Amino acid sequence: MKDFILHNVRLLSGEKTAIVVSGGRIINIAPQLPANAAGCRMDGREAYVSSGWIDLHVHADAALEPYGDEIDAIGIAQGVATIVDAGSCGADRIGGLHAASQKALTNVLALLNVSHIGLTRTDELSQLAWLNEQLLREAAERYGKFIVGLKARVSSSVVKEQGIEPLRLARGFADRLDLPLMLHIGSGPPSITEILPYLRGNDVITHAFNGKANGLFNEQGRAIPELVAAMERGVLLDVGHGTASFSFKVAERARAAGIAPDTISTDIYRGNRLNGPVYSMAHTLDKFLLLGYSLEETIARVTSMPASWLKRPELGRMQKGDIANLTIFSVQEEEVSLTDSEGETRMGMQHIRPEGVVVNGKYIAI
Ligand SMILES: [Zn+2]
Repeated sequence: MKDFILHNVRLLSGEKTAIVVSGGRIINIAPQLPANAAGCRMDGREAYVSSGWIDLHVHADAALEPYGDEIDAIGIAQGVATIVDAGSCGADRIGGLHAASQKALTNVLALLNVSHIGLTRTDELSQLAWLNEQLLREAAERYGKFIVGLKARVSSSVVKEQGIEPLRLARGFADRLDLPLMLHIGSGPPSITEILPYLRGNDVITHAFNGKANGLFNEQGRAIPELVAAMERGVLLDVGHGTASFSFKVAERARAAGIAPDTISTDIYRGNRLNGPVYSMAHTLDKFLLLGYSLEETIARVTSMPASWLKRPELGRMQKGDIANLTIFSVQEEEVSLTDSEGETRMGMQHIRPEGVVVNGKYIAI
């Protein structure tokens, strides 16, 4: 690992800065390149620098189809320093994901699927025997801090005839393991009004702005009462764009009603990376600039906000003494064609482009 000084970069405020990284840590952040600075200089060419982007919902088990991909293809290659695999693996395969993460450059954390078979099938909650608390507990204990929560996909094609029962079981597992739950929502049954009361503070709803029936917002774009109550309990909203789960109209109406996502994630895997509509984290962020979120608001949702949810604040800030995790990116004033999961295309006027990423002190150009 080489020491370096990243200079000629800008904070989101526009203020120029230079960041000195030594031994993998940030040892200085200064408005100017220190006069006596020795070592390798990286010219950021006036790009922005933020703490390393965090994608809270990806599918990083390369062997799985359709929901899988290579870790570094959805991490560093996209300017993302830290990915959170969102339940690709249950107890059966989590060891393999952990081993693969050790060989990757990208930081990897995981939400453990409450079904021990994970996404080896896409109806992983359709048999209650697959919700095995003992296997879940053993995996959670074995992989310690790698496991940041549980994942349950509670929509009709996943739970089939089981209705709300998998969620009821998942609630108990999360409570007894003292882990937050990321809940995937989609088409019912079960109905969203039946689902939401099971969520507690610090749980997170992914696919929050999907365009399907059974969503969180009514026809007028107002939050349904069960969502209002859930948010009052501290339940958070995650984007989880994916192939089928992000609607411009829903996100736009929610914003007009004063409801913003807490975190912006991609739900990226091979298919929607190569063929859209996701493509990349930056492309997903462009959609939020188009919706009217400021650059600061947008970047906070892939840095400080997910880091806070992960209880890993150091991953979402730039501070002297921290291990260096940074994303360097430019914002191009150019038209970009953006398509949501409903097939609606809008033209953005700004386009974020990752230029480089620093993961655990190592600089990687993009
Ligand atoms: Zn997903």
